[in-house]
Amino acid sequence: MAVMAKPREPFDLAVVGAGIVGAMVALLARRRHPEWRIVLADRSLAGHGATRYSAFLDVPLAPTPGKRALTERSRVLYDELRRELPSLPLRELPAVFVSSEGRAPRLAGEIVADRESPLRPLDAALAASLAPDGFRLPTGSVALGGVRAVRADDTLVRTLVDELRARPSTVCVEGVEVASVVGDGGGRQLLTTHDGRTWSARRTALCLGPWLGSSQPRIAGLPRKWRVKKVAALHVPIAPRSGSAVVYLADEEAFFLPQPEQRRFLFSFRSDQWDCEPDAAPLRIDPRDWSCARAIMKRYMDVVDMDLGGVVYCDAYGADAVPSVEPLDGVPGAFAVGGGAGSGFRLAPALAERALQALEELRAGGVGPEPGLRGEAAVLGREEADMFDVVADPAIADDAVTSLFDAVYVKGGYTAPAIAERLFSPASVRSRGTTLAAIGRQSGALLGAVIVVPPGNHGRQISVDGEAELHLLAVRPDARRRGVGRALVRDALRFAEARGWRRVVLSTQRQMTEAQALYAAAGFQRRPERDWTRWGSHYLAYDIELTSS
Ligand SMILES: Cc1cc2nc3c(=O)[nH]c(=O)nc-3n(C[C@H](O)[C@H](O)[C@H](O)COP(=O)(O)OP(=O)(O)OC[C@H]3O[C@@H](n4cnc5c(N)ncnc54)[C@H](O)[C@@H]3O)c2cc1C
Repeated sequence: MAVMAKPREPFDLAVVGAGIVGAMVALLARRRHPEWRIVLADRSLAGHGATRYSAFLDVPLAPTPGKRALTERSRVLYDELRRELPSLPLRELPAVFVSSEGRAPRLAGEIVADRESPLRPLDAALAASLAPDGFRLPTGSVALGGVRAVRADDTLVRTLVDELRARPSTVCVEGVEVASVVGDGGGRQLLTTHDGRTWSARRTALCLGPWLGSSQPRIAGLPRKWRVKKVAALHVPIAPRSGSAVVYLADEEAFFLPQPEQRRFLFSFRSDQWDCEPDAAPLRIDPRDWSCARAIMKRYMDVVDMDLGGVVYCDAYGADAVPSVEPLDGVPGAFAVGGGAGSGFRLAPALAERALQALEELRAGGVGPEPGLRGEAAVLGREEADMFDVVADPAIADDAVTSLFDAVYVKGGYTAPAIAERLFSPASVRSRGTTLAAIGRQSGALLGAVIVVPPGNHGRQISVDGEAELHLLAVRPDARRRGVGRALVRDALRFAEARGWRRVVLSTQRQMTEAQALYAAAGFQRRPERDWTRWGSHYLAYDIELTSS
């Protein structure tokens, strides 16, 4: 019988699974909370789950708003990490997108282009010169290019884990399986390993990759949100030229990726074999896969004499193929994080950041966030007379929030359009914390909003340790004088207080006199010593102490 060790001082964060997602959660947590004690554990070697088989391609394509938000934010975070950790094996390469003429307009809308590298049409000769030798653009197809993709290699997770190990406050253990995660009744989690060790943690992230969707889950309480699907790719023995691009075939959801180190291209294509088991007998590229892949490739090149090999494994997929953060049933403070859906490398940073936000919302004592706070709207306050509800992170269209901020800040002359474009983008708004929104009960319209930025968030302006910050309080011009702003500020303070944050700070511009009156009425104090200036605008600082801290 296993001997249960006495639990030691709790970890601030336990991350189970050291694939790209788990390693990224631990790294972002360490970056934002250097004081946290973190344990990162994997049953195998770090990076030896689905991540081991990855082509590590970040192709800038996002067919749904959910994927676009994660794609845009991940790009920003990868760029930041690359600057901070120059040893990260991330390289840029050109991307070419091919589709039928009919699909091209939709495709153009799905491509995430940078400002520096705008999307442009490519003629057939140029497209072929960037593609594998022998590639031809089929009649009736068009090519778009000019944008950059990013790729990494299989040393990525090892580099992240080495970076984590460099701090004694982070413990990385390999070859240790977590067999169960239960609540201790006081808001913490008890993790038991296969060899009977017990860890206590204030927060737990289960980043189990395809094991999240296994039909025989080892850990009880995992949400039944994901299924496991095979992911396969062929090795095509054509040596890439210098400057070869990744060629994405939009009609087939397939791509050719140059792998110059291996003197070949990787040809990735859809394999629709569902409900595989990550621990079962090794998956194979079967005759159905071969004929599907060959049929696609034949449209674009001659493959008759090629001797092809390949790579195959599996990944977890949610119904919408967008990775997510889900609470563990019956275990407050524990979340399952995953659903890479064949894009886990490229979406890992933004997914990890969302996981961290969910984990940060837990109070120091370990009490979980209100049920449904993320995803479904949680009703915080009601204004009977004015007929609106204040809700946290409501399920409303991204552009409704952006146009509200535009109407108030750009049209009001407070923010320059060029700055607003970046500041008010859905990805930027989401990454800064929780949006509280006033929604009209009859109309369902967005009347006003404010962002509550948690302590330590990267988007903070003046907050320091333990302080939350309010950003972008905005009330639609035609919904003013109905108490919308007052209700938003009141509920933002309640929201912060419920999380044990000790003080709330905010900045406002001199000419925003109505807002200043509202802050004063809510109890905020002027703090001239914290005033600041950026891009030619001067900001006045306010703060308020929260009573329960
Ligand atoms: C052939 C192939 C090509 C791909 N190409 C790309 C690509 O080009 N671009 C892209 O973005 N994505 C790609 N993907 C998808 C990508 O690899 C995955 O989405 C990503 O690796 C998932 O990362 P993860 O951390 O969620 O899972 P994993 O890497 O599987 O990590 C989960 C970890 O959890 C550990 N674990 C499980 N259970 C336990 C337990 N009970 N206790 C302790 N540890 C546990 C496992 O050992 C594993 O290391 C590809 C996938 C495949 C298979």
